Amino acid sequence: MSEKCFCGSGLEQSQCHPDIHKDSVIAKTYNLYNRLDNAVNEYFQKNDIEPYCRAGCSYCCHDFFFISDIEFDIIIKELEGWSKNKVNRLFQKVESSWKKFEKKYPMVVHDFQVQKFTSTQLMNELDRADIINKTSIPCPFLDKEDKCSIYNVRPFICRSFGTTKITIDLGVVNYNICELINTQGQYDKNKFAEATSLSDESKDLVDTIFDARTNGRHYKRGATILYHAYRHFIRYKQGFNILNHDYKFNKPIGEYFRYMASKIGK
Ligand code: SF4
Ligand code: SF4
Ligand SMILES: [Zn+2]
Repeated sequence: MSEKCFCGSGLEQSQCHPDIHKDSVIAKTYNLYNRLDNAVNEYFQKNDIEPYCRAGCSYCCHDFFFISDIEFDIIIKELEGWSKNKVNRLFQKVESSWKKFEKKYPMVVHDFQVQKFTSTQLMNELDRADIINKTSIPCPFLDKEDKCSIYNVRPFICRSFGTTKITIDLGVVNYNICELINTQGQYDKNKFAEATSLSDESKDLVDTIFDARTNGRHYKRGATILYHAYRHFIRYKQGFNILNHDYKFNKPIGEYFRYMASKIGK
């Protein structure tokens, strides 16, 4: 029997994402993205609100934020559809951005590499060093027109930032609300969509995956998008198949966790 795809495209799964198991961690993440987008769009339409965010507005894409490993795997999968030239251009950009970042913040790079901090400690550290919101280094996926080149698979934070109450409810206004929105220290809470329960769900998903995968040794939110991209760039340059994630894509979620647990000796 044919089934509609978990990603919410409305197509049959066999026509849309035939190579991803419908109960995999990846499918769950696609589904969460889709429900978040729907919640945001429905809220804006129902309340006749003009969203703050629009195409070509990219201040928030120069920020320093964390995404999970799973979210980055989805992005990498998207690159399968890119030409080799386009992937090469992307990785050139990643390399030059990483060099700039390394030069500007050598201690942060060091801390990433030794994985010394939890993400909260690291965020506090970055805040003290006045880095948050001020890296001025664009996300490598921002294109020449200041648009997101991976829009359909952009991470949860890129979908919720500036559009939902999730970021407001996190409570740390200085770096959780876009400065373009919060210019006078004021913003209208009613102009942000309610999607808080989805945020809890995303946190649960990310935390569970994180625990199963790393047994507490890495950052909770994985790494910044630039660091993820840089790690993949290195492996790509060394000739590794950067899409070697069978368990995440092709197996149901339970099997994936059992596999990861066996790897960390639980
Ligand atoms: S969060 Fe701010 S910078 Fe980002 S798209 Fe929205 S208004 Fe623009
Ligand atoms: S993934 Fe896209 S939306 Fe998110 S920071 Fe990068 S360019 Fe911006
Ligand atoms: Zn699909």
